Amino acid sequence: MSGLRMTAPKVTRRRMPGLKMTRSKSLRWILLAGLLVVVACDRDKAAAREQEKTKDQTPTASGPAAVAAPALNLPPDSGPPPAFDGGRAMQYVKEIVKFGPRPLGSGNHKKVEDYIGSRLKGDQVEDDAFTADTPEGKFPVHNIIAKYPGTKDGIMVIASHYDTNYPLRKTSYIGANDGASSSALLLELANQLRGKPRDGYSVWLVWDDAEEAMKPDTEMPFMDDSLYGIEHVAQKWQADGTLKKVKAFLLADMIGDADLDIDRDQNSTPWLEDVVGEAAKRLGYQSHFFARTNQVSDDHLPFMKRGVPCADLIDFTYGYNNVFWHTPQDTVDKLSPQSLEIVGSVMLESMRILDKMDPLPPK
Ligand SMILES: [Zn+2]
Repeated sequence: MSGLRMTAPKVTRRRMPGLKMTRSKSLRWILLAGLLVVVACDRDKAAAREQEKTKDQTPTASGPAAVAAPALNLPPDSGPPPAFDGGRAMQYVKEIVKFGPRPLGSGNHKKVEDYIGSRLKGDQVEDDAFTADTPEGKFPVHNIIAKYPGTKDGIMVIASHYDTNYPLRKTSYIGANDGASSSALLLELANQLRGKPRDGYSVWLVWDDAEEAMKPDTEMPFMDDSLYGIEHVAQKWQADGTLKKVKAFLLADMIGDADLDIDRDQNSTPWLEDVVGEAAKRLGYQSHFFARTNQVSDDHLPFMKRGVPCADLIDFTYGYNNVFWHTPQDTVDKLSPQSLEIVGSVMLESMRILDKMDPLPPK
């Protein structure tokens, strides 16, 4: 891994291919890909966007490159969109950030654990607890898994981390977007799933813990010091056979930004991202999806490497040039209930499409 960095790119954070960052998601640094190889640091924004547009034209099912990517066997539109209450999800965001910083091992972390549990009363909830050995010592980790049964054989997993950045624990950093927004989104998804047996796959919501790195970006490779909780889930499910039943893994991260632009992610499964894009289109939300392509290291990687189709829904331009990310300025005033509603509805619509895609594309 090289520590070499480009100076502030104009459109978003990027890396030259092969110049893997010292940190990926804690930096979730974005690798410069394909045509962008030769994009110089001082290339202007418009030109860079043009390059991305060209790159983005390749993997769509209906586009000119459909030969390379087999067309998806999409079911017809199911009509009225699924309900998702963005206002209520926003209320959950506010309740979560009220606890303050929620790093691993803190009293506030325990409070948010209990809070999530309290909102899932009566649901089938599993506490996947273990001790993580980190560069900052040993910490108790709790992944919270709520299970909503369906009639079809198979599981769709929707995940979000709920811890906040550890190195910023002594600042006023509260992770409204990074940690709280997606955790709140899952709580509202639980409201939609509760008490209605699904005519489709089972849905398991996973609030995973210890996603954030323990050491600052500059001190340790992100992939050696992060994703502790979700890696444990993936290993456990591989060992007990659950993993074979997982049809799709949808991840939400930093999805509350009022200026919502979800990136296409090159570390995700193209056909599953196409399903998400189709869901967004059916709901009229396509302008918030996939204008840019990034390559993101995030909680989906332990499932990707085990062959599970994954899609990471992340908006990694949180403020100009992602300036609010991992700063005390990651606060509720930057978020909107509309963004939560858009992502929540697209998640539900994606699930509806996946339920009826028979058979699903091969892993
Ligand atoms: Zn983070």
